[in-house]
Amino acid sequence: MNIAVNPELNENSHQTIYLKDYTPPSFEVLSIDLTIQVHDDHTLVHSKLVMQRLTSGDLTLCGRDLELLNISLNGNVLTPDDYNIDPEQLIIKNAPDQAEFSISVKIHPESNTQLEGLYQAGNLFVTQNEPEGFRKITFFPDRPDVLTVFTTRIEADKKYPTLLANGNLVEKGDLPDNRHFAIWHDPTKKPSYLFAAVIGDLAVLKDSFITMEGRKVALEIYALAQDLPKCHVAMQALKDSMKWDEDVYGRPYDLDNYMIVAVSQFNMGAMENKGLNIFNTVCVLADPEITTDPAMFYVKSTIAHEYFHNWTGNRITCRDWFQLCLKEGFTVFRDQSFSETLQSAAVQRIDDVSSLKSVQFAEDAGPLSHPPRPDHFVEINNFYTATVYDKGAEIARMMANLLGPEKFRQGTDEYFRRHDGQAVTVEDLVDSLSDGSGVDLHHFLPWYSQPGTPCVKGTGHYDASAKTYTLKLSQSTAKRPNYPEPQALPIPVGVALFDKNTGEQLQLQGNALQQNGVKDGLFVLDQAEQTIVFEQIHTEPVVSLLRNFSAPVLLDFAYSDEDLAFLLANETNGFNQWQAAQMLLERILLQGHDPAVYLDAIAQALPQVADTDALLASRLLDIPSESYLASRIDQNFNPAEVHEKREVLLKALADKLKTYWAQAYQALPIVAFEDNSVEMGKRAYRNVVLGFAVRANVEGALDWASQQYDNAVCMTERLGALRQLVWNNAPDAQARLEDFYKRFKHEDLALDQWFAVQAGNPKGNVQLARQLMQHQDFDWSTPNRIRSVTGHFAGNPILVWTQEGMQFYTEIAKRLDQQNPVLGSRILQLLSRWYTLAEPMRSEARTILQALKGQVSSSSVCETLNNLLKA
Ligand code: ZN
Repeated sequence: MNIAVNPELNENSHQTIYLKDYTPPSFEVLSIDLTIQVHDDHTLVHSKLVMQRLTSGDLTLCGRDLELLNISLNGNVLTPDDYNIDPEQLIIKNAPDQAEFSISVKIHPESNTQLEGLYQAGNLFVTQNEPEGFRKITFFPDRPDVLTVFTTRIEADKKYPTLLANGNLVEKGDLPDNRHFAIWHDPTKKPSYLFAAVIGDLAVLKDSFITMEGRKVALEIYALAQDLPKCHVAMQALKDSMKWDEDVYGRPYDLDNYMIVAVSQFNMGAMENKGLNIFNTVCVLADPEITTDPAMFYVKSTIAHEYFHNWTGNRITCRDWFQLCLKEGFTVFRDQSFSETLQSAAVQRIDDVSSLKSVQFAEDAGPLSHPPRPDHFVEINNFYTATVYDKGAEIARMMANLLGPEKFRQGTDEYFRRHDGQAVTVEDLVDSLSDGSGVDLHHFLPWYSQPGTPCVKGTGHYDASAKTYTLKLSQSTAKRPNYPEPQALPIPVGVALFDKNTGEQLQLQGNALQQNGVKDGLFVLDQAEQTIVFEQIHTEPVVSLLRNFSAPVLLDFAYSDEDLAFLLANETNGFNQWQAAQMLLERILLQGHDPAVYLDAIAQALPQVADTDALLASRLLDIPSESYLASRIDQNFNPAEVHEKREVLLKALADKLKTYWAQAYQALPIVAFEDNSVEMGKRAYRNVVLGFAVRANVEGALDWASQQYDNAVCMTERLGALRQLVWNNAPDAQARLEDFYKRFKHEDLALDQWFAVQAGNPKGNVQLARQLMQHQDFDWSTPNRIRSVTGHFAGNPILVWTQEGMQFYTEIAKRLDQQNPVLGSRILQLLSRWYTLAEPMRSEARTILQALKGQVSSSSVCETLNNLLKA
């Protein structure tokens, strides 16, 4: 990455960085010895850096918000004449080929509110260095392709008994003035973004794992003493993940210990620092009393995600930040595959696709659209996006599916063999997968560099006399400004044919199919238009396409509504049934189709599914969210109209099954809590059924909600009931809200839910959200608390897209611009679809966004705002 000053500055004088300007580092770092001395009102960081020249060029050390105390090179104290320094870096002129630096700086973690670098969170000091936080700790070539060996000495007052850094503890001892120290050495070379240190007073849960190589690994989860009982779920998930990566990818863990630290103030979910993960409490603490089932599931998959990074991210890391999806996309694919083993594979796929469509498709349809591997950015923090993570995962999945498990494993084995210990690119991954498997996958590379969601259109025709079924498919992707004309991508399309009369799946084997390129039920559409002819089809079929969501595309196939109802009834797996229902629902909600066919089909299918698989049944009742629907409307978007249509449909569905809801609810009494997918399914379904019963005005349904609240044995039940009470303004709502507050006022994660349920009330308003932000427990230094209001309020586009709603968000972005720009930028991104609004809202939105312009200055918020205004 080019870290020299670039003359091309944008209007806020932030520099744009381009992938094409990548140059390798001119120096390597052989080792770094760090000493971190923590004091109440400042921290001193001393470093000894041993560097060696690789190529000609300046010696550049990144540094931001550092007070340089002294610097010497090869034993000689440097004076300002010896270097150039600006707010971002220090450049040594005429550096010798061997350079040993001693550098001392002063930093202020106690007042660092940005949660990057070293910061104090309550009684804890923690680091967050990805992507560019390390430069806020000391001067260093802070780029992912500079890997080195870290030795870390931490010194602090004994009121902080916990002193942690990456690697092995080599020494600890006392110091004068009631202080102590610990020295850690990490034998593996790593980039600075994976460095971590923790200073605090934490309790620890210990366990161990024996690797497939027979080595014993000490496992430790650090949290506040009162939270330690909530760490068992995470510990089990960690052991399960370690085993899974051995079984499925042949990857054992490499160090002697693996530590996880829980911190309540964290911008993201969690961070994969080598051997010392730092987690947002919401991603590690789990207890049925305060954690809902989906939240507990999220803990398990996040533990897995960070663990899997040890191979895909840490041992093999990214050459530069443009390659972020190399580690994130692949690792998300890996955690999704692991999570499939914890619940039904169909429901896992439903949940992943549902979030892909409502978040990633929406992102890709607007002014923040970017390819999974962007080619330029102003602020890399703005690119930890659904596109990089989730579309990145879909690309890895397409290649894995095409290869099949055995060949994919040969490909990944080759990747680990070639690149262990290196910083690499997306091309390196695709080269390895291709060479290892013997199947060329290079035609998938354009998926990484082309933005936008492709749309697959098609028609099918059955010729009864020729006994052929002809499928015509075409693809197109909208051109985006500043990107080349989109090209056709290889789109694997999962295909099956079903007998229209019997509902049985037809067996598609034989030569005729192979010749047409259909293999293992996958057809790769890689031209603008293609035709496949299925021969020897003796009865009229219904085609099922994009099975298991075989590619991240929109599908617009000439189905009749009856065909979709047929698939909802006859498809052989739950995901495909769900997908058929979603297609029907989109027609009703976006194209005005009559809901009757859908209502009959779901009424027919639901009771039986519910009896055998309640978890799946809870998902089959998903209705596309208003945000997703909005992402499909490119102009004259009227939030109230979309809301109203969706409400009408929900009411029709509720009424259609009115007597069923009553029976189904009564048949699901509260029982003792068990953490397995059957019981999780019943709890999920009970809450969904309760919602429909309330909507249908089933007699006494709101009383059931009150009783469910009172008798709840876990948070899933209590919160599910509270939501119905609050969102329907039930007479009992206030008393239960007060009860909830009293019960959980000392449990931050539960209290977040108390804020969320009120902020997310579809019948709420901006005033209510503002009041929540005035509450004594509202806390501007804890991102989870901020998101509990801003994120849940955003679930209601009718409230967001009002002048007050948009002002609410721009005010928050302005407030966070200095305090926590990474978070401020993310919150501002919620407004990205402003330009689709119908007038006069659209002009009002522009005025409100433009008014923010002169008032913000961070690179994160400015880049997002500039992009929004380009729409
Ligand atoms: Zn990750």
